[in-house]
Amino acid sequence: MLFIVMTKMIKIDGWRCERCSHEWTPRNKQEKPKVCPKCKSPYWDTPKKVVTEKE
Ligand SMILES: [Zn+2]
Repeated sequence: MLFIVMTKMIKIDGWRCERCSHEWTPRNKQEKPKVCPKCKSPYWDTPKKVVTEKE
């Protein structure tokens, strides 16, 4: 349970990109960033395993 709380605190204090591992602290912590400020990926919070394939 402690681990979950700590993870949540880290999330609140800042964000981490799943794509380039970039970590940053947004000005507005209540609003989720749309893109990673470094790699500009809109899927920065989505792990790579989620892949949408088009037919
Ligand atoms: Zn990134």
